[in-house]
Amino acid sequence: MAKFERIVILTGAGISAESGIDTFRDAGGLWERHRVEDVATPEGFARNPDLVLGFYDARRAALESVEPNAAHRALARLEAEFTGDLLLVTQNVDNLHERGGSKDVLHMHGELSSALCTSCEMRSPLDVPLLDRPKCPVCQAPTLRPDVVWFGEMPYRMERIYEALGTCDLFVSIGTSGAVYPAAGFVQEALMNGARTLELNLEPSEGSRFFTESRHGRAGEIVPQWVEEVLEG
Ligand code: NAD
Repeated sequence: MAKFERIVILTGAGISAESGIDTFRDAGGLWERHRVEDVATPEGFARNPDLVLGFYDARRAALESVEPNAAHRALARLEAEFTGDLLLVTQNVDNLHERGGSKDVLHMHGELSSALCTSCEMRSPLDVPLLDRPKCPVCQAPTLRPDVVWFGEMPYRMERIYEALGTCDLFVSIGTSGAVYPAAGFVQEALMNGARTLELNLEPSEGSRFFTESRHGRAGEIVPQWVEEVLEG
């Protein structure tokens, strides 16, 4: 693989699939047997807050029984050994990148281990069930919700991401279906700015035609291979 100096990586649910966390796509648009409209929209939360709080409490609890896989660990190795600039952006709300050793992870769709206060809008670390209605550590109101970006809400740190997409020489998309915007548009943004684009996914994603190169297979196999190539130069 040619030498690159500025790499942006976008990961999605597919990178955590081999760790045993369900993706959306592979479950036919459901997330752990729930309709996305019910558990991942502000309207769903307004309709049935207990269902939504309980759903994310269960997702957070489930993290205790899964482990990062070879793909997460390979990206941590890349962060430690790559001498150029690297930005790792994930759409995932799990903590497997961090547990795999990555230090700097941009969670554009939020995190299961964080809460967002609907009163003061502050984010805070979370390790108790939201269904127990814990108080916000900042304003003391019992109005915490999952710090997860739902459909119709603005993802985090878009300015930082677009800045990196404007200057990267390689954009890599790993384990994402390319169906959820704005992340699905990152490949075109990078391509327009002259970057090479590489897809590492089980199958061609919806935006497959925008990738200069596609490699199809399980993330646990093809991501470590690719990292090895980059580090060998
Ligand atoms: P998605 O479910 O829409 O797509 C997953 C993609 O990964 C598919 O293209 C699939 O073919 C591919 N894939 C499945 N197994 C793979 C493997 N072993 N190796 C490589 N690729 C594999 O997921 P998405 O594109 O991330 O978008 C859905 C949204 O779902 C995101 O916003 C995310 O926040 C949320 N989500 C997150 C998690 C998580 O945190 N782990 C889990 C489910 C959903």
